[in-house]
Amino acid sequence: MARAATRPGRRPTGRAGGGARAVGPGIEQGEKMYEGKAKIVYATSRPDLVIQYFKDDATAFNALKRGTIVGKGVVNNRMSATLLELLGRRGIPTHYVATLSEREMLCKKLDIIKIETIVRNVVAGSLAKRTGLDEGTEVRDPIVELYYKSDPLGDPMLNDEHVRMLKLASPAELAWMKRTARRINAVLRPHLHKHGLLLVDFKLEFGRAGKRLYLGDEISPDTCRLWDARTREKLDKDRFRRDLGGVEEAYQEVYRRVVEGARAS
Ligand code: C5P
Repeated sequence: MARAATRPGRRPTGRAGGGARAVGPGIEQGEKMYEGKAKIVYATSRPDLVIQYFKDDATAFNALKRGTIVGKGVVNNRMSATLLELLGRRGIPTHYVATLSEREMLCKKLDIIKIETIVRNVVAGSLAKRTGLDEGTEVRDPIVELYYKSDPLGDPMLNDEHVRMLKLASPAELAWMKRTARRINAVLRPHLHKHGLLLVDFKLEFGRAGKRLYLGDEISPDTCRLWDARTREKLDKDRFRRDLGGVEEAYQEVYRRVVEGARAS
């Protein structure tokens, strides 16, 4: 698909001359549909496609902490594209269609299911808090957790029965999401390990398009815990959450390993 020319860092707000911006053959950029904490979603002239624009804005602790991570949008867009393409090649249906610029991705429009699916290989974050286990303890059989995607409620944990009660997904959809989350882990964990990264845990979002389910959102250092496989140095958003310093450098290091390393290999 054609790559549209956008100036790096510039938000795509339409053309100065008033004409619509073409982002692909017969596809024009439309209105802003939604602005989230880290991304903006734009409509397109195709009802089945949207554009995800990745910002440098960072938030943590349900947006109580806010900041900017310079270059994060580029890293997250490129890394998500690399990993979503990989998953697509391994038979996982994803919303990824094409990379439009260094901060923009053309995606299938999904009706997002309001569940955050989290997969854990190593104890960290809220699992350490909830269980008292030390951060860094290996989780023998990776576990899958469900959280209610709700900012006002602070994304509380759910079980299958809450999902049924709230009608967030059908039992068949939920079973597919959990099975697919494990398959995704089985692809990403060894792939990232080849690039010297330990995939500690990560968050996935799924959505519906027509009668099918797809993996949506992003796969990036914002949504994954990634440690250096040898030194266990944190190379993800925990550097921002916990004021560890070297935040931008960590994102760039992940970019070098996952995006540039993937091109080289
Ligand atoms: O905080 P917690 O340990 O539950 O997070 C597990 C994983 O899910 C981490 O990789 C974190 O970055 C990700 N996550 C996310 N968005 C959230 C909550 C968690 O990407 N709203």
